[in-house]
Parts: sequence; C-alpha cells; structure tokens
Amino acid sequence: MDCTGQIFPWGDTRRFNSYSRYTREQFGARVQKIAVSSGLTCPNRDGRVGTGGCTFCLNEAFSPSYSTPRLTITEQIDNGIEFHAKRGRESEHRLAYFQSYSNTYAPVEELRALYDEALAHPAISGLIVSTRPDCITPEILDLLAEYQQKGVYIAVEYGVESVYNQTLAEINRGHDFECAKRSIILTAERNIPVGAHFILGLPHETRQMMVDAIDTINSLPISTIKFHQLQIFRGTAMADDFRANPDNYHLMSLEEYLDLLVDIVRRLREDIVIERFASEVPHHYRLNAGWGIKGHDQLIQLLEARLASLGAHQGDMYNLTAEYR
Ligand code: SF4
Repeated sequence: MDCTGQIFPWGDTRRFNSYSRYTREQFGARVQKIAVSSGLTCPNRDGRVGTGGCTFCLNEAFSPSYSTPRLTITEQIDNGIEFHAKRGRESEHRLAYFQSYSNTYAPVEELRALYDEALAHPAISGLIVSTRPDCITPEILDLLAEYQQKGVYIAVEYGVESVYNQTLAEINRGHDFECAKRSIILTAERNIPVGAHFILGLPHETRQMMVDAIDTINSLPISTIKFHQLQIFRGTAMADDFRANPDNYHLMSLEEYLDLLVDIVRRLREDIVIERFASEVPHHYRLNAGWGIKGHDQLIQLLEARLASLGAHQGDMYNLTAEYR
C-alpha cells in the first residue's frame, strides 16, 4: 500500500491500474487462471503463414507442466486446480486460460467444443483466449459474444509484441501492426475485453521507440495489457541470431528495465489495466542471465517504490494530443 494513502483514479492506492483490482471489480474476489492447452497449432508454424514461427517462440518455456494437450481440457483443469492448491493458492473464481499457440486457429465448431468443455467444468467461471491477431474471424467473435451474452466472462488476448512493422518482420511474426489493430477494434466493438501482449527489448528497438510506442498503444481500444522483457530461449531462431549478431540486442538490467517501466506506466492511459510487467522463465530455458528477484510481486514493489519517489502514477504523463492519430 502507498504510504501516502492517496487514492488514484482507478480507486485504490496502487500507483498503477492493477489486474487484481480489475478482477475484484469483475468477480468480487480474487481470480485464478488455470492454463489449458487446446492442442491447436499456429499458422506461423504449420505453413499457412510461415513455418519457422516467431524467432523468440518456445511455448514450453511458458506453459505450466499441468497444461498439456495429452490430457483432456477437463483433466488439465483438475490438475491445474490441484497444482495451485498444493502451493496454497485457492480461489473462488477460476478462468480457463487458453494460453499456448493460437487458440482460435480452428473451425468454429471445433472451438465451440473446446470452450464448452472448459466451461462445463464446475470450477470455471469464464475464458481467456489467447491468439494471434490474424487468427480471428467475425464467426469466432460471434461465438465468443454468444458466451458473453449468457453471462460468461470472456476476454481475448492478442500477441501484438510491437507496434513497429520493421520489428515484426525481423522477428518473423507473419503479420503487421495494422492486422493487430484491426482485430483489436473488431473484438472491442463486440464489447469483449481485449488484452494485448508486448515484448520490451526486441532487436533494434531503442528505449525511445518503446516509450513512443505508448502513444500508439493508447489509441487502441484495449482493456488490459501485459509487458514482458525480452528473454532469449535456447534452441530458438532468436538464440542463433543473438549469437551471430549480439550488437542487435540490448538485454536490459533490472535497473534499466524499471526505469523504462516508469516512463511507460506514466504515459499509459489510466483505464488500461496492467496485468503483467515481466516474467522470468526457468533458467535452463534461456541464454540470458536472470535478475535474481523473487517473482513478479517483488518487481511490482520495486516499481511502485520508484513511482512513489517521483510522486508519479499511471497516466500522469499521458499524451492527450496523441490519442487519436
Ligand atoms: S504466433 Fe505464438 S505460437 Fe505461433 S510462432 Fe509466434 S509466438 Fe509461437
């Protein structure tokens, strides 16, 4: 809690609009996400868009062990609940989080069967569907809106990664920023909450570019946002590129990253809920050294202390003139 007791525009004393506040507002309690693996693949891997995938991609690095397509959706949810319970993490409300690969990359009826199975689990109150911006259609949005009309919580999370087309080409995303923008707008027009995921520190992106990107992000009708620092996973195309062209990369220290986050948070629209600032995958997956912090909570404490020392908070440097351009 902020020692000044100051209440910020989102209604609590945190210096940023937090996901825990958002879920308390939506559900009246803490919410737990249970990752489920749909077994669907990705058009940037199966040849429809590309074959190599995004240069940074290593899905197993960020999928929990209980989430595997070898199990049914129901079994994965049961395992996920047990996984969290063993770690003392209980919750009244749980959302099935279709996380890995592109979870809208299938015919609508196949998707309906997957989502129905998750929602049939008695512990599940809603869905978060993560996907690529080029894997959404009006028919899929109709399906998601249908659940929502029945009172089910639904959110869609798009991997946007960067607002710069030269970066998206360099990391072999197989879509441009305009594609992401179109899908975000189409989804938001259905009143479905939209999340966007960005990576900070992609090759050739300068600090100024990352800060300037916030004006573009502010112009998107997104509800939530996730940031991740660039990590280089072993065995990926990016790992090869990093070894061959180390000068194209700047892997930020914790101090540099916190400074960048301060500038980003201060410029970010105050209604955008920040779900995540960073994450660290287990060290055996990555080439780069870790920061030695104890999880996301410690990063948030360090960030809040920095914001407090500046008397700053989310959106206090929001650039109104750049909102709609
Ligand atoms: S779109 Fe997602 S799953 Fe597909 S290659 Fe890129 S990061 Fe991996």
